[in-house]
Amino acid sequence: MRSGRSFLLLVGASALIAPPATGAAELTCPSSATLEALVACIRDQMPGRSSGAFVAPSFNEMDAWRSAVSAMMHGACDFVLPSSLWSFARVRSFRDADNGRPYCLLMETADWNGDGVVDRGFGALIVDARAERELSHQVSHPIADAGTEIQAITVFKRTRSRTFLLAGAHRHAIPGGRWLHGPSMGSDVAHNPATMFHTAHAAIAAHYGWKPWWAIQWHGMAEDTCEGVDVHLSHGVSAAPAAGDKILELRSNLLAHQPTWRIGVPGSRACSLDATTNVQGRLLNDGLHGGHGGWSHGGWSHGGWRAGWAYDGSPAGWGLGRPAPTHARRFVHIEQHPGVRDADRWIAAVLATWP
Ligand SMILES: [Zn+2]
Repeated sequence: MRSGRSFLLLVGASALIAPPATGAAELTCPSSATLEALVACIRDQMPGRSSGAFVAPSFNEMDAWRSAVSAMMHGACDFVLPSSLWSFARVRSFRDADNGRPYCLLMETADWNGDGVVDRGFGALIVDARAERELSHQVSHPIADAGTEIQAITVFKRTRSRTFLLAGAHRHAIPGGRWLHGPSMGSDVAHNPATMFHTAHAAIAAHYGWKPWWAIQWHGMAEDTCEGVDVHLSHGVSAAPAAGDKILELRSNLLAHQPTWRIGVPGSRACSLDATTNVQGRLLNDGLHGGHGGWSHGGWSHGGWRAGWAYDGSPAGWGLGRPAPTHARRFVHIEQHPGVRDADRWIAAVLATWP
């Protein structure tokens, strides 16, 4: 125990848990020596497209996940997870064999039916307690946006950023997805705030409060989508960026190293993938959808997914009626064709943009 916050997480950890079924396994990726190998392992054991294996987290599970993420953001890693997570998730330290640096890892591990795939699709968070940049590298569409997992974890590692956040299932793990089941049921974490991915994003945002940080979300688009560009950058809004904006800075730093790349931003008309419905972006741009405030109010089917959501932006509490923060321009959404999803071609530009 390193802090009082960690102690609070012990409450209830001794609750009895039913024994798993025969053939049950714990999928902890024990042989992964580097962050890249670890992320590939986690990706390869998550629910795939149309697997039907994604499970929506409960209110209590999301609340517990939020408290675990908050403890990790404060530098803790040796705490006991709350009882609602204890049976299917693990928190542990991880040392990367390439750079020798320690990280803290939270991941879903339980495979009670023994099929080699985790049972829920909750994903993973990696925190570098000694980071040099307050950047959160996020992969919301693993498998589907092929290659973004490894690209983002390598950028995270080599730029010494604070957090790496990985969704736990293919965005279309549930056949029919959000349109058939409603936004609260889908495994597409970029469009469903009732997920562990969004819960972690909201907890990270709450941790920073008004302090500067950026969430960089790495996506991939098909070769025949937005054919006029190789990369499209946005803040999750369609307004053209003004002079001094970070995405203009990132674009010019990328062009300094990759002069042949065609890089679009909102307003350039070559691509309209501005991610305006991305809920992680909406949280930072609008101050909405944070935590679970609206979840308990049943706002999904009555009045739409914005109803009832409020986020006070303070590290300590939720829904206390304080003004919503405006973290506009803190969300950086990157769409890429397959040929440019290469960390080596991005790292210098990220370092130059966030020195
Ligand atoms: Zn995507």
